[in-house]
Amino acid sequence: MSRLGIVIPCYNEEAVFQESAKQLTDVIKDLIHKGKIDQNSFLLFVNDGSKDATWSLISREFEQNEYVYGLNLAGNVGHQNALMAGLLTAKDIADMCISIDADLQDDVSVIENMVDRFQEGCDIVYGVRSARKTDTFFKRTTAQGFYKVMKMMGVKSIYNHADYRLMSRRALEQLSHYKERNLFLRGIVPLIGYKTDCVYYERKERFAGESKYPLKKMVGFAFDGITSFSTKPMMMILAMGLFMVLISILAGIYAIRSYILGHVVGGWTSLILSLWFIGGLILFSLGLIGQYIGKIYIEVKERPRYNIEAFLQHEKEINEGEKEIR
Ligand code: UDP
Ligand code: MG
Repeated sequence: MSRLGIVIPCYNEEAVFQESAKQLTDVIKDLIHKGKIDQNSFLLFVNDGSKDATWSLISREFEQNEYVYGLNLAGNVGHQNALMAGLLTAKDIADMCISIDADLQDDVSVIENMVDRFQEGCDIVYGVRSARKTDTFFKRTTAQGFYKVMKMMGVKSIYNHADYRLMSRRALEQLSHYKERNLFLRGIVPLIGYKTDCVYYERKERFAGESKYPLKKMVGFAFDGITSFSTKPMMMILAMGLFMVLISILAGIYAIRSYILGHVVGGWTSLILSLWFIGGLILFSLGLIGQYIGKIYIEVKERPRYNIEAFLQHEKEINEGEKEIR
């Protein structure tokens, strides 16, 4: 029987933790009862350096609930890295892992469908939102704009899929070979290949607590996604530069003609204007190129993505290989 691990990154989620743990435990119990997953299946809550009581809630739940495991990161590393920490830890003790947000905006009832697809031989199963009715208008338009821009920029990603997905151990093994620090899992996972499928659900409202992704972070996330996966912006600058050169040649011809014909006007205005314009363009381009160099700078350092402070798992599961993690 296959062992399932559900990985849940948590950052300041004390308001939702209890309810999430309860609902997900019910799902696990139900699947075990139906004989679809192994008895040793588990929930792995990853505490991403929360400033509130999230970790003490996780450790308390760990004491009382045999299905709950906890991973405490030494500081806040962000959603993507926290997720990676959880997945890479869980892959050694599970045959398949599902990642889901702590706020349960993603419908837990499709976990069963995901597991079914896995049994049918899929290595990756994407959870795709069929409707976003409950998201605010603002969140919906910004999020959809995000997918469209990504597509335009040539980043392969699944439309309306966030980080709710199932991955088999072998897919996770493959994922662990992607060493980049600018993590954008939605862009990497489709690169892995293997047999994939989608399950559909309606996205719900956050039932408590507030979104940890305000607009500023969303824009940053989109920018990271584009600059980590696509060099199109650089091509665009190249084209723009070429265009500007052509224009200035035309302008040059015009200037020389005026000079020969003898209308030598002051020309101060046009000069100063083009000076500013071209100056701005160069600065803009430099800034953009700088973004890529910044990324290279981060990548070459090869810093660890996260630092694990503690890993709680139930004794009965510990075998030789896993003792080291503790
Ligand atoms: N999260 C995290 N680290 C962070 C920010 C968020 O682990 O620095 C987690 C958070 O606890 C939640 C998930 O990432 O489980 C998604 O965050 P949220 O629900 O706030 O995002 P939204 O659904 O609004 O896009
Ligand atoms: Mg959410």
